[in-house]
Amino acid sequence: MNAGLSSREVVLLGVGHTNAHLLRMWRRQPIPDARLTCISNFPVATYSGMLPGVLAGQYPVEQMQIDLVRLCDAAGARLIVGNVTRLDVTQRLVHLDDHPSVPFDVLSIGIGSVPSMKNVEIVGNSLMPIKPMQTFLDRLTGRLECWQEHRSRDELRVVVVGGGAGGVELAFCLPAAIQRIANVLTIQLTLVHNGRSLVPGTLERTSHLVSSELKRRGVEVHLQRMVVHVADDHVSLDDGRTIPADVVIWATGAAPPPLLSQLELPTARDGFLLTRSTLQTTGDAPIFVVGDTGTREDDPTPKAGVYAVRQGPVLWENIHRQLRGKSLQKFRPQRGFLKLLNTGDGRAIGEYKGLSFHTSWAWKLKDWIDRRFMDKFAVR
Ligand SMILES: Cc1cc2nc3c(=O)[nH]c(=O)nc-3n(C[C@H](O)[C@H](O)[C@H](O)COP(=O)(O)OP(=O)(O)OC[C@H]3O[C@@H](n4cnc5c(N)ncnc54)[C@H](O)[C@@H]3O)c2cc1C
Repeated sequence: MNAGLSSREVVLLGVGHTNAHLLRMWRRQPIPDARLTCISNFPVATYSGMLPGVLAGQYPVEQMQIDLVRLCDAAGARLIVGNVTRLDVTQRLVHLDDHPSVPFDVLSIGIGSVPSMKNVEIVGNSLMPIKPMQTFLDRLTGRLECWQEHRSRDELRVVVVGGGAGGVELAFCLPAAIQRIANVLTIQLTLVHNGRSLVPGTLERTSHLVSSELKRRGVEVHLQRMVVHVADDHVSLDDGRTIPADVVIWATGAAPPPLLSQLELPTARDGFLLTRSTLQTTGDAPIFVVGDTGTREDDPTPKAGVYAVRQGPVLWENIHRQLRGKSLQKFRPQRGFLKLLNTGDGRAIGEYKGLSFHTSWAWKLKDWIDRRFMDKFAVR
């Protein structure tokens, strides 16, 4: 593509569930007279829906990765792998620390979220936040190798912090990865969750299926407790109890990435960027905010990949409309949706329309949905 002929600059900051849709559509049908630039902190994007399956040994690592270098190349888009430092909304420039500033006529920000880590004291090296997901397996491997070198017992003690969908899937799927990487015979797994029941937002019966399955596998669950201190060999809870821990996986609810506070765009009470139903920032700039990164204060939707994915077609339409000066389309989040949690044993716990189940066909369905989703981004 000849950048010199392009008069309009479309820029994606972060290529997650929603922005990746735009990149895919661009590959099929680029917007005439425009150039697409993608800015990402990694050359690959990781699909969270498949990370538990990778841990369980159901997929190779590459299966959960979108190769941004190849996809951008195939779409005729420019990829910048770098660190954004700030935004100049008036001049319409994205500033990076190690790259010339990038001008935009339309910008879509979708840098996801990070696990919330408020009021936690951390010493030592046992802590493994789930993000960035691109480096999670390498960090886990490094920690396990270090543990093996200095081990004083055969049992590995693992604490997973966070009992949402991500946390429980990790609790189900992590042991297989640990056994593969470190050949550990005994794993004592504990899950700590600050809510009253696991996987908030699901039916009581679904939460019960999750609890029973964890119990069956010997996972100790602490509800309504917060981890307030992480040390090299234990964590402390807010009631003063300590739990021995060699590895602490942090998979708590979504918090805003620190960069958001540097962008000088309106933020919601939760610290994410405030958006309208059209996905546009409330700051009246030609800037869209998608996926976990945006919060609508009039109608907050949960921070979940399913919503981020469904925003894709609305973003694609609205970027066209923005460039043509037309009024924008609204995103209407669907209330109920199929929920499927990989239990790593060829089954999934799910719920749909009031029914809860833990079956092998639910896993087959999840596998089919996830593979079909990732196929859309493959460059062969
Ligand atoms: C283990 C796990 C399992 C989950 N499973 C499910 C599930 O089954 N269903 C579901 O609905 N939700 C699930 N979620 C939640 C889901 O992952 C998020 O809601 C979803 O990823 C949000 O999509 P996004 O596009 O906003 O962000 P992301 O998918 O996180 O994408 C953001 C992208 O931006 C990049 N980025 C970050 N910071 C910067 C920066 N400063 N500059 C440039 N690029 C940046 C990141 O590398 C990433 O590629 C799960 C979460 C976890 C942790």
